[in-house]
Amino acid sequence: MTAALWLPDSDLDPSLQAFARRIRTFADTHLAPHARAIDEQRTFRRESVRELGKAGILGGPLPERFGGEEWSPLQVALAHEELGAVCGNTRGFCAVQTGLVAQCLARFGSAAQQERWLPGLIAGTAIGCFGLTEPDAGSDVTSLTTHARAQGSGYALHGQKVWITNGGVADVAIVFATIDPQRGKDGITAFLLPMPCAHLTRAPMPGVELGHRGSDHATMTFAGCEVPADAIVGGIGQGFAVAMGGLAAGRMSVAAGAVGVHRAALAASVAFTAGRQQFGKPLAHFQMIQERLADMLTSLHASRAVVWRLARRRAAGIEVPADVAMAKLLATEAAARATDEAVQLHGSRGYSSAFPVERLLRDIQALRIYEGTSLIQKSILARALTSAK
Ligand SMILES: Cc1cc2nc3c(=O)[nH]c(=O)nc-3n(C[C@H](O)[C@H](O)[C@H](O)COP(=O)(O)OP(=O)(O)OC[C@H]3O[C@@H](n4cnc5c(N)ncnc54)[C@H](O)[C@@H]3O)c2cc1C
Repeated sequence: MTAALWLPDSDLDPSLQAFARRIRTFADTHLAPHARAIDEQRTFRRESVRELGKAGILGGPLPERFGGEEWSPLQVALAHEELGAVCGNTRGFCAVQTGLVAQCLARFGSAAQQERWLPGLIAGTAIGCFGLTEPDAGSDVTSLTTHARAQGSGYALHGQKVWITNGGVADVAIVFATIDPQRGKDGITAFLLPMPCAHLTRAPMPGVELGHRGSDHATMTFAGCEVPADAIVGGIGQGFAVAMGGLAAGRMSVAAGAVGVHRAALAASVAFTAGRQQFGKPLAHFQMIQERLADMLTSLHASRAVVWRLARRRAAGIEVPADVAMAKLLATEAAARATDEAVQLHGSRGYSSAFPVERLLRDIQALRIYEGTSLIQKSILARALTSAK
């Protein structure tokens, strides 16, 4: 009964309700039983990839001619909310595998690249990664220095990528490199690289991640990896457009995933405060607790409304960077506040992995950083509002 207040269902028509329930059932059946264990054990669960493939989730947004289901942007948002509510690792995996890799190939790849890789990426028999970030090129991707030097009829890659999700387990990578550092943004070119390959070293990121501990994050070091000229995705010098195309799709998934995290924090807090008694009555009967729950619910709906607005405008062909920036900024920051509140409402129990909220609190931090930090989203909005460059 109470769940109806935070689930999206009552705002959806019957076919979208059925769609949301389909993904929710998948997440509850296949992801929920492992979500805590993969985080605690810091293991990437490859079986989940096959299960996502079998359930049609990896190909969901892709065109039918590639084996996808042509999900609308609203369906993508609903799917990522459902996955995000249960397992941030899996939601993040899907954003990379489908949003950044498969959709980029469907949009910018050659027919041969699509034929070679899309069936496996959709079925979950192949894993993809997206190599953009470097030690000295994070928010400012145009300063990347990974270099593709002309060699024979193709190129040789030199440089390093860091923080690459799926980097250690991927069978194929989209790697961004410059063919001429003097050309700045116009030199950036995307290359499709089957892995493993000679002269590429992959290693886990040093240290222990704050969250997303059931994901694979790797460094990729290129010491002259040879790539043929037909490995280019989207044309020489088109890499920046390819990267931004991927990120526009990915940022909506991150925003929708944050709505899922927010919802899970609220659901856990409602259940916990109803059951836990102090001073002779349930915590939920204290007004100060109620005020916090009410704020979490209201901000959840505000975030979802902005994500759905983005989805609906995208479906209508309206692409405005400020829409994407607003949705990512609002949803991830609101979810971060909600998870913080949820930990406090759980008291000492919120501080233990025996309850889900500490994982939500840790996982949400990455959503404020990757695919453009919150400050970068603010600078996109500020540029849209002013004449500042
Ligand atoms: C879990 C995780 C998974 C990731 N997966 C991938 C992946 O699959 N592929 C990939 O390529 N990358 C990936 N990344 C990297 C991610 O995209 C970058 O971390 C992100 O873009 C920020 O870059 P940075 O970490 O170098 O921070 P920096 O750019 O160094 O920023 C540090 C701080 O300075 C602020 N800042 C930077 N520039 C400005 C400015 N102009 N004005 C105001 N503030 C500014 C930022 O907001 C931030 O607060 C991942 C990161 C994480 C944490």
